[in-house]
Amino acid sequence: MLDVIDPGQVEADAPQYNATLVARSDETSSLAYFTIRFDGEPVPFEPGQYMTIGVLVGGRMVQRPYSVASSPRTAAEGYELYVRLVEGGLFTPLLWELPLGHRMRMIGPKGKFMLQPNDQRTHLFISSGTGNAPFVSMIRTLIIDGASRPALFLNGVSYQDELGYRDLVEGWQRDGTFPVTYLPSVSRAADPRNADWTGRLGRVEAIVEPVCREFGLTPDNAIAYICGNPDMILNAEATFRALGFAEEAIRKELYWPKGKEPKLAAAEGIDPAVNDDE
Ligand SMILES: Cc1cc2nc3c(=O)[nH]c(=O)nc-3n(C[C@H](O)[C@H](O)[C@H](O)COP(=O)(O)OP(=O)(O)OC[C@H]3O[C@@H](n4cnc5c(N)ncnc54)[C@H](O)[C@@H]3O)c2cc1C
Repeated sequence: MLDVIDPGQVEADAPQYNATLVARSDETSSLAYFTIRFDGEPVPFEPGQYMTIGVLVGGRMVQRPYSVASSPRTAAEGYELYVRLVEGGLFTPLLWELPLGHRMRMIGPKGKFMLQPNDQRTHLFISSGTGNAPFVSMIRTLIIDGASRPALFLNGVSYQDELGYRDLVEGWQRDGTFPVTYLPSVSRAADPRNADWTGRLGRVEAIVEPVCREFGLTPDNAIAYICGNPDMILNAEATFRALGFAEEAIRKELYWPKGKEPKLAAAEGIDPAVNDDE
């Protein structure tokens, strides 16, 4: 039986540790960016892939996979991850309490949620919550490489202050650094936290069809990448299928198995690290 772990039980150092938490920046009380750097040479990865990070507690590695939000081109500086604190979760409450400079283990990369080579179709990047992380890595890398692809960047959240990377993506759009159109959406229209919100309303999957119509996106000129909450992904996928998109043109990264609650997945022995489209 798994219980909530006291962060004080996390081992400060261990032979399995190969990396260090070198930076952290908080977006809200439950959303933060963490940068973890390998002790030695950085491991190559493709934008869209994920790393698994963990800490040792009572001789057991408690670890979870996270999409890398930074570019592999800047891996020597560390791997930036964008994480939500899951109340009642096993790992994230530990991560939240780690001081800067704490040692940890990072392994990877894994995953097949990657850009297709030389694809000039319009890229529909669709995310809920922290599911925007792989898209930030993809665009950061394309910018560094001087390669561009037309993109629409949809991010759905409950409250406007949860729109991580908003300034970055809006900046790319505003100054033309990358041909991206940012389309954030908030779902809790009536909440005071969204009082001055004038953008799109509703869950991100609900704006997929209107956005395709508005921007003239069809199976002939677009490809969809969808990441985050499994219910959102399955609903968005159904919309794309109804619009005639082929399976090949709907790429998915599920952050947890459909229908799972915090701690349940781990307690049932399901390894979230293999929960992708491999
Ligand atoms: C390939 C892959 C990439 C991932 N990348 C990220 C990432 O970049 N950022 C990130 O925050 N998470 C990401 N996750 C989820 C992450 O691995 C953990 O599941 C999450 O941090 C919760 O861990 P926990 O031990 O605190 O909760 P657990 O005790 O493992 O509970 C898991 C449950 O928490 C809920 N949950 C998990 N992730 C989220 C989330 N992001 N938002 C809301 N609820 C959630 C679900 O109900 C899930 O069943 C990814 C998962 C996979 C499989």
